[in-house]
Amino acid sequence: MKTTDRRSFLQASLSGLAGLASAPLLGGLAGCQQLPSRQPPGSTIARKTALTTEKLADRVTLMTGAPGNVVALSASDGIALVDSGAADSARAIKASLAGAKVRTLFNTHYHADQTGGNELFGAAGAEIHAHVITRQWLATDYYVPAEDRWVKARPKAAWPTKTFREKGEMKAGVESIEYGYLLEAHTRGDIYVFFRDSNVLAVGDVASPLRDPALDWYAGGWLGGRVDAMDNLLALANDETRIVPAYGPVMTRATLQAERDMMLQLYDRTTDLTDHGRSAQDMLDAGVLNEVSRKFEDPYRFLYDVSKGLWAHYTNFGGNIV
Ligand SMILES: [Zn+2]
Repeated sequence: MKTTDRRSFLQASLSGLAGLASAPLLGGLAGCQQLPSRQPPGSTIARKTALTTEKLADRVTLMTGAPGNVVALSASDGIALVDSGAADSARAIKASLAGAKVRTLFNTHYHADQTGGNELFGAAGAEIHAHVITRQWLATDYYVPAEDRWVKARPKAAWPTKTFREKGEMKAGVESIEYGYLLEAHTRGDIYVFFRDSNVLAVGDVASPLRDPALDWYAGGWLGGRVDAMDNLLALANDETRIVPAYGPVMTRATLQAERDMMLQLYDRTTDLTDHGRSAQDMLDAGVLNEVSRKFEDPYRFLYDVSKGLWAHYTNFGGNIV
């Protein structure tokens, strides 16, 4: 059965924050940056957005509007942040911390909305933790096929200083933090960060409750990897876990399960069509999105990325090719 054939995954005090309601910042990157911003780090654009905060647990606060989500754990030895927001948002994030030092910063993946504040927090002494492949993307010039352009490597100050390939854990004050690889779910360097004691699980762009799920196929993301990664996340969570995606509302295990089931349904439909040599437009015409519990903003774009990812991973699921 395909779903087994494809399985290749690796077995594998925020006292300063509490009470902060909203801090103004310059932002304006609309939506998940599946592709990095044209904005050079540190630049600003005119549209104002608001950074809002919500307490998810005694020690854990969610910041929204950076333009995505940033999670902050308060510990006796400093703050642990998951993602640093876009470059334009980094100062507002720092201001929200009211002087508390960021000791640890995790990057869930390399996209600019998640790594734009790396220079700021790194220069202030934060250790930046990420998958080794995320470091490679940040350290290298790369091509963006959808826009036919090159993106320059980020300055060395933005590069992760601690990298890993599979999983790890650390203590931050009394909190146990677990983190690990989510193989090929959105890019090829996605990770989760699990604040085990507070039961908050940050998953980056591997879940997407609001926007169309993004598959950065050129960086290794594909539908099969995404389903496998979501299974890994479901195994970590229980009914009380607060699951934080890169964009959109906090999820429960049940809402993550529903999104995973939808992605598996799409996986089965689109791999079958790919086996028959069908294109993204063929998939759209065949109505593969018709019965899923999701309205897609840009169905063709989503299916184009699905199709590209499936072709890149054909040997993971393919039968005979036409
Ligand atoms: Zn992303």
